[in-house]
Amino acid sequence: MVEARGVRKSFGDLEVLKGIDLTVQQGEVVSFLGPSGSGKSTFLRCINHLERIDGGEISVNGHLVGYRRHNGKKYELKPKEVAAARRDVGMVFQRFNLFPHLTAIENVMEAPVFVKGLSRAEAKASAQDLLERVGLGDKPAVYPSALSGGQQQRVAIARALAMKPKLMLFDEPTSALDPELVGEVLDVMKSLAGEGMTMIVVTHEIGFAREVCDRVVFMDGGVIVEAGSPREVLVAPQHDRTKSFLSKVL
Ligand code: ATP
Ligand code: MG
Repeated sequence: MVEARGVRKSFGDLEVLKGIDLTVQQGEVVSFLGPSGSGKSTFLRCINHLERIDGGEISVNGHLVGYRRHNGKKYELKPKEVAAARRDVGMVFQRFNLFPHLTAIENVMEAPVFVKGLSRAEAKASAQDLLERVGLGDKPAVYPSALSGGQQQRVAIARALAMKPKLMLFDEPTSALDPELVGEVLDVMKSLAGEGMTMIVVTHEIGFAREVCDRVVFMDGGVIVEAGSPREVLVAPQHDRTKSFLSKVL
């Protein structure tokens, strides 16, 4: 589903990604751990066309990110083609980023109506289903300001799912939440994983990584230091950098 080879990205003189190789199979759930500034968010943003990479290649669902190949040559995608490619990928951020002037259900309907051109009635029915799936079937008409952080984040997940993505990216989806609200968001992510969604999750929730993820990747300084099963990386890490990071977060 995701194939990254030698991905490099710099901001000015600062090289943030120094050659990332990663393969994520369909249905796999992979968590990314690593210290602040190690490049986790940047890598997710590169997968989702939010940053242009300086070297290497990423493909999602068989499509090269940012380019198309023709007769062995690479051509940059046009904005319209980028928009189409991005529909395969749903992203949920640390901050909920809901539209404040739209109700919960209108937030979920927005992209299907305005991007996909669905009728409002059609979009509304599937948005209601999605709200039910994230446990908010009774809150369609509520505005974000009247929802808790955990509820807002669940609306954000429903909104991302509304475009029927093939891959979901989560960038620290629970780290802005009060501790008692973390569980309800992780539960939604867990059920999504159980339904076979391919997911990459940047998180410091070690319990989630251990329980739900097929693979854990530890990143530091713009490289993948080690990757493996949750047991390999979280219980028996090989590298000192991983050990030292885990000793701080566990
Ligand atoms: P955190 O755990 O704090 O979220 P991270 O691993 O997600 O960290 P990134 O956000 O990917 O780290 O940032 C990696 C480095 O790139 C940091 O040094 C950051 O300051 C820098 N950086 C990220 N985005 C930009 C940008 N748009 N312009 C300049 N520098 C940037
Ligand atoms: Mg980040």
